[in-house]
Amino acid sequence: MKTIYEKSITVLGSTGSVGTQALDVARTQNIKVDAICGAVNVSKLEEQIREFRPKICGVLSENAAKELRIKVADTDTRIVSGEQAIIDIAGSGNSDCVINSITGKAGLAPSVAVLRSGVSLALANKETIVCAGEIVNRLAKENNVKILPVDSEHSAIFQCIGNSRHEDIKSIWLTASGGPFFGRTREELSGITPEMALAHPTWKMGPKITIDSATLMNKGFEVIEARYLFDVKGENIKVVVHPESIVHSMVEYIDNAVIAQLSCPDMRLCVQYALSYPDRCTGTLKPLDLTELGSLTFKKPDLKTFKLLDLAYKVLDKGGNLGAALNGANERAVALFLDKKISFTDIMDLVTAAVDKIEFISEPALEDINKTDIRARQLIDELIRS
Ligand code: MG
Repeated sequence: MKTIYEKSITVLGSTGSVGTQALDVARTQNIKVDAICGAVNVSKLEEQIREFRPKICGVLSENAAKELRIKVADTDTRIVSGEQAIIDIAGSGNSDCVINSITGKAGLAPSVAVLRSGVSLALANKETIVCAGEIVNRLAKENNVKILPVDSEHSAIFQCIGNSRHEDIKSIWLTASGGPFFGRTREELSGITPEMALAHPTWKMGPKITIDSATLMNKGFEVIEARYLFDVKGENIKVVVHPESIVHSMVEYIDNAVIAQLSCPDMRLCVQYALSYPDRCTGTLKPLDLTELGSLTFKKPDLKTFKLLDLAYKVLDKGGNLGAALNGANERAVALFLDKKISFTDIMDLVTAAVDKIEFISEPALEDINKTDIRARQLIDELIRS
């Protein structure tokens, strides 16, 4: 059997929060990095190329690629550019594992390419599953690919399940930090600025997911993600607010025993476990000192105020193309909020209205998923104008 040290990886979205932490793991574990991909961050990509010496680096922006090509002309790394180039790297089959930490719907096509190549997919891009859960599961099965969760909650569930029999699982308990606005009323949420929403209490993440955490949309996405990763019905996936972010999620079995995974909040454990699975290895994670923490608290989420979490359950229940609609609408609304064009509560109202208006397709093909994504974004713009 291969040890983690003998593995080679490709990191998609290498300049983002999870991407840089994936490369931290590669550094600590001495893992070979075959390829990296980023959107526009030339200086970060240059730094990563000089340290990890990948054979190839994909850059989304043509202009950034031109600049990078000049900067790293003295290295052996080939720079390619554009969306298709990144999809080609994802599907090249050259690594033992591809880590997809691209943000948003943009991560779907690269995930599909990885699955078709038969290489294992360490998935941090939850939007892949939110948009196309059924299709992704079918592709994984057809190509005999294991999807290894990198989202902290899903990594926790993956660890809690271990070798248990599927029929013994009663429910999944996803923990949520609650975001910075837990306990606030709808009125109190209306004046929130992007700066306030970007200050997450326990996790340091990119801007899009930080806003999603503040609206609880992120938790809604994670409910959908858990449904497809672990084949558990929506009604058996529960959310509990746990502000300390120490219990990363739990699995309840039919005998009412609950198994939880606890550790200091650090995404590097999730990447490391995805790469070392089914084994474990030592790493950089700080040991957990429960006596120093003293207590852990758990509360019910407020589904009325944070209605996007509730909406995610409804979307999951109806299925079809609604996941893609939910994600597309949310991506557009979050971008508008970060741009100060709409308010924090507008995100919730607009996304709810857009999902309500989308044309329903019960068994969408990938093409329908892409069309739904575009349509949902248009609906947000139309709703603002009306
Ligand atoms: Mg998460």
